[in-house]
Amino acid sequence: MSSIFSPALVQQINNQITDQTGVELYVLRLDIMHPEINGNKWFKLKYNLLEAEEKKYSNILTFGGAYSNHIFATAAAGNEFNFQTIGVIRGEETLPLNSTLSFAVSKGMKIVYCDRKTYRSKNTLELQAELKERFGEIFIIPEGGCNLNGVRGCIEIMENLDDFDTICLACGTGTTLAGISLSLNPQQKIIGFPVLKGGKFLQTEIVDLINNYLQSNLPKKVIYPAPWQLIYDYHFGGYAKIKPELITFCQTFQQEHHIPLDYIYTGKMFYGIMELLKQGFFNPGKILLIHTGGLQGNIGIEEKIIHKHIRV
Ligand SMILES: *Cc1c(COP(=O)(O)O)cnc(C)c1O
Repeated sequence: MSSIFSPALVQQINNQITDQTGVELYVLRLDIMHPEINGNKWFKLKYNLLEAEEKKYSNILTFGGAYSNHIFATAAAGNEFNFQTIGVIRGEETLPLNSTLSFAVSKGMKIVYCDRKTYRSKNTLELQAELKERFGEIFIIPEGGCNLNGVRGCIEIMENLDDFDTICLACGTGTTLAGISLSLNPQQKIIGFPVLKGGKFLQTEIVDLINNYLQSNLPKKVIYPAPWQLIYDYHFGGYAKIKPELITFCQTFQQEHHIPLDYIYTGKMFYGIMELLKQGFFNPGKILLIHTGGLQGNIGIEEKIIHKHIRV
């Protein structure tokens, strides 16, 4: 399955701040491993798809918002590896379909909509039983690929890369952080930047994912997680909330370093890193920023911004 992906590239970033602080800054480009199944979403899907294949399922069902990177990647991966896919989308249908959902449909995904209240019960056995009744034999992957298979795949993100002191990444469910913490040595540490407001619940969820993984019979690389912490100051008002300074930051960053950032996840994390560097937060050393992808989502956001502009 992994053969269609290019190895992840590590790129160094130099600017005034890195020069002044003695920090060496690198970016792990998971965003360019595959044009469609990109970023951390592939790592979270990998063992879910392998389990589905092993159990002879040909239909995958999963959940997401209308601009979801996970929906996009699942549709593309389903198409690539011959699964039928069903995407349960939070909220009402809006026509014409946005770019994420039209891509999903073009990859053969069947889209169904779910009102927000019912959507909240997506992880309950009741709703899952209902979905099985409606769609037949389906292998269900939770929203965002947030399960132990997801963690297992993320253990592989840092394979052959143990040269860094600090690893930084944006967090939604924290599955990626959990997997990475189970792949490093205890001298390394991880800093996660939650992109949701009130992300404090995330701490407990990550601890649970890590402990559940360690107690499972899935293969392990380490027996203790590497130290990690969350920094809550850079969510910009909450999930998918975007401020003009964030947009300007992403645009300037792309011009200076030729690395595009997405507004929902990586843009917020990179912004936070640059601020923390200015504040002298980091000791000299090697920092790796994980580019978890998500660029497909920018199209939808840019469409919205232009729309607003026209209406004003
Ligand atoms: C989904 C996503 C994340 C969050 O990953 P989690 O494992 O849910 O924490 C980060 N960055 C991008 C670009 C994503 O699409």
